[in-house]
Amino acid sequence: MKIGALREIMPGEARVAMTPVSAQDIRKLGHTCLIETGAGEDSGFSDAAYRAAGVEIVPDAATLVAEADVIVKVRPPEPEEAALLREGQTLISFFYPSSNSELLEQARATGASVIAMDMVPRISRAQKMDALSSMANIAGYRAVIEAGANFGRFFTGQVTAAGKVPPAQVLIVGAGVAGLAAIGTAVSLGAVVHAFDVRPEVAEQIESMGASFVFLEFEAAQDGAATGGYAAPSSPEFREKQLAKFRELAPQMDIVITTALIPGRPAPVLWTRDMVEAMKPGSVIIDLAAERGGNCEATVPNEKFVTPNGVTVVGYTDFPSRMAAQASTLYSTNIRHMLTDLTPGKDGVLLHNMEDDVIRGATVAHHGEVTWPPPPPKIQ
Ligand code: NAD
Repeated sequence: MKIGALREIMPGEARVAMTPVSAQDIRKLGHTCLIETGAGEDSGFSDAAYRAAGVEIVPDAATLVAEADVIVKVRPPEPEEAALLREGQTLISFFYPSSNSELLEQARATGASVIAMDMVPRISRAQKMDALSSMANIAGYRAVIEAGANFGRFFTGQVTAAGKVPPAQVLIVGAGVAGLAAIGTAVSLGAVVHAFDVRPEVAEQIESMGASFVFLEFEAAQDGAATGGYAAPSSPEFREKQLAKFRELAPQMDIVITTALIPGRPAPVLWTRDMVEAMKPGSVIIDLAAERGGNCEATVPNEKFVTPNGVTVVGYTDFPSRMAAQASTLYSTNIRHMLTDLTPGKDGVLLHNMEDDVIRGATVAHHGEVTWPPPPPKIQ
């Protein structure tokens, strides 16, 4: 089969779904690879590097989609891209079917199959294809780097001839994949890191990474924990306790990184305006939940600004794209693993096995039908 990677057309999107290395691995599955000219440029992969890896360069998106059997990309397709699909083709990209129903209908009507990388079930066997996690890991890391670039002091404490420097106090709200990556990065830079999550089972993980768990005195063990490892909305009483704790911490924190999300809902507002106002001048807030409305009340999605009391608030929504070489390397590996599972014979023949929990879970359109939401996976 011919596997073709499109150039991303969303302004500012620097990632690419195929790298020269992933192309070589895809070719070992018996496929041939194509890429739209310039698709890897913003990630640091030139057309020449792809050519050297045996990839055919095609001049534009229309030619690529006309030639390829499987189209891979990062962002959900734009309507003009989806319009190019045809029956018998497979598209593999992020898709977010719950918020893209029109796009899903458009793709379904073409008869093409769509595999949504954001719908890969989060079970152990599928970790190698879990692009949400690989991108969240980068976002968490980059959040700390971004915080450092906007913070006028060291992370680590120092005693120097020119004076004693206290370590930065960092609070991470939400310790999922991104939060844990942020904890690891901030600890490694020498900050004193505090972290909070509504899921009590992460306390041990937080502490094993060298951060301290922000403990709330609350009678029920915890009410924000739900099934499947994800958080559920907190009760009003719990939320009040949480906000009271954050109010107490706000004047002491130099950097606050918020990553709290609840699947299918807007981000919970956890860092209120009065907390921002209580922070010291020079402090930094990085809101990784900005795309879903933000955990911080002051956040403006896609913007960075300084509040009147001197706090920098960063609401970028493209952290993985800001580390495009790394993000493309990991995402293209996730895609390559998906193609490996779709090519069981390693013979260049694609087998879209809807009996396979992972492939079934991620397939949102197939043979002219919408196949989302999927039935619950059999394996946990
Ligand atoms: P996420 O991005 O959905 O949410 C981020 C974090 O925010 C979560 O830890 C959540 O508990 C927390 N949160 C929600 N509301 C909060 C609040 N009010 N205050 C503080 N924190 C709040 O999470 P994620 O990174 O996608 O991971 C969610 C779960 O999925 C975790 O249990 C993780 O271990 C699990 N997971 C499993 C796999 C796998 O098995 N393949 C892969 C990735 C993640």
